[in-house]
Amino acid sequence: MGEYSNINFKKKFGQNFLSDKNLLASIVRDAGITEDDAVLEIGAGAGALTAELIKVAKKVVSFEIDTELKGELEEKFAELNNIEIVFDDFLNINEEFIYEKLGTSFKVVANLPYYITTPILTKLFSMKHRPQTISVMVQKEVGERIVASPKKGDYGYFSVYVSANADAKITRQVNRKMFTPPPNVDSCIVRLDTKENIYPPKFFEFLKSAFAMKRKTLKNNVEKLVSYSKSEIDEKIKALGISESVRADGLTLEQLFEVYKTLFE
Ligand code: SAM
Repeated sequence: MGEYSNINFKKKFGQNFLSDKNLLASIVRDAGITEDDAVLEIGAGAGALTAELIKVAKKVVSFEIDTELKGELEEKFAELNNIEIVFDDFLNINEEFIYEKLGTSFKVVANLPYYITTPILTKLFSMKHRPQTISVMVQKEVGERIVASPKKGDYGYFSVYVSANADAKITRQVNRKMFTPPPNVDSCIVRLDTKENIYPPKFFEFLKSAFAMKRKTLKNNVEKLVSYSKSEIDEKIKALGISESVRADGLTLEQLFEVYKTLFE
């Protein structure tokens, strides 16, 4: 394990570390980080990505849950003043604390602990001042689900949820061999350029129901939420130029919002 021979890797924290300098520098470049940027990192690990980020960014604040890494990280970054490591569970951090450290305009770059990918993205999207961009390493299948389009196998609630919040693209595929220790899955990096969320919270409840039973039609999935009869629902969906027998995974975010509006507004 070379440079990580002194580390006691903890599976429960999703600890799979990177070390390839070219890959790390590419991650920072693909994330579009410049000297004007304040960067939030989630999961410093032994500081491999952190070290590349501070070469470019104005400031980096990195969260790490594992206090056993404190000695390693403090030694590595002792000389530098544009980095702060906070030893805490990122999911318990109050968003005001983040604005105090980084201001309200910042970017996220992280090799995420995969067991909490969804809660982390949900937390970032629900912030009052959401990150300008979120560039994160995720499990390959999760990345594919995020960027999937209608009628493709991976398209579902999570794809629509993310596309309501950001323009998403996969910037890089990363083989499991690039990690120490190698995980059981391949990975990819997703860049999410956040956009204003113009959708009401109730729309996301509607989406959850719409996608709840994969094989059911949209109308059968949402019927219980709506005060109209089945034939009235059919008429309203057809009036939008959409087949009444469509399933949610056959529709784009925009079409789903049209259906939501016609049924609820
Ligand atoms: N950034 C390092 C790298 O690229 O080599 C480490 C990435 S590793 C995949 C994920 C890191 O997130 C681990 O160091 C783990 O301890 C940390 N972590 C796990 N859960 C966390 C949480 N809830 N809050 C903050 N850090 C967490």
